[in-house]
Amino acid sequence: MEYNGILALFDIDGTLVRGARCHYQAFVESVKKFYGFEEDISGINYAGKTDPQILREVLELGGFNEEEIKRNFRDCQEYMAQYYLKNVHKEHVRALGGTSELLNELQRRKTLMGLVTGNLKPIAYAKLGQVGLDGYFPFGGFGSDYEDRYLLVKKALELAKVQYGYEGKRIFVIGDTPRDVHAARVYDLKTIAVATGRYSVKDLEDCGADYVLRDLKDKDRVLKILDSL
Ligand SMILES: [Mg+2]
Repeated sequence: MEYNGILALFDIDGTLVRGARCHYQAFVESVKKFYGFEEDISGINYAGKTDPQILREVLELGGFNEEEIKRNFRDCQEYMAQYYLKNVHKEHVRALGGTSELLNELQRRKTLMGLVTGNLKPIAYAKLGQVGLDGYFPFGGFGSDYEDRYLLVKKALELAKVQYGYEGKRIFVIGDTPRDVHAARVYDLKTIAVATGRYSVKDLEDCGADYVLRDLKDKDRVLKILDSL
């Protein structure tokens, strides 16, 4: 397939969709099963963090040392994904306004699209599948690849190159948190931050995003930004 030279890397939660109740539940259940403790993680600001990163933080707060954390780290995440897949139909995932139209148009224009999300890969696709957005993203960097978000960006860039022969420089990262912006900055990529998560337009401007939008409803505005590079 011929691409138009633009690479758009999307975050999921707070950017494309809302609704993570089941994800939260999967987290709590897997920590309970593998580490035997019930932690209230609702107080943690996990926006923009990867699943393994949140898991580690929770366990560290729970007093587990590195060796104890390591012992069940992989199995715990695997269980988390399984639990999610089993229960995702109960989840109320909603596509955020304008996303479906935007992705559709980007695909029509032959824009190469990938994901950069802290979600474990099976969770990411199941979540998007709930609202019919999973088919737009043939590759990505996921929480199951690395704990640090900036490495997820690297992973997505590598896959774009290796699997799709992408050699261009017109790359955008679209996300809803300062963490998305900072991760993209490591690779000098352009960032579009959307205030549909827990951060305001002002927060996102302050963190140095190249473009800040209230949401993704104004498709033409987004297309204009992508065309400007
Ligand atoms: Mg997000």
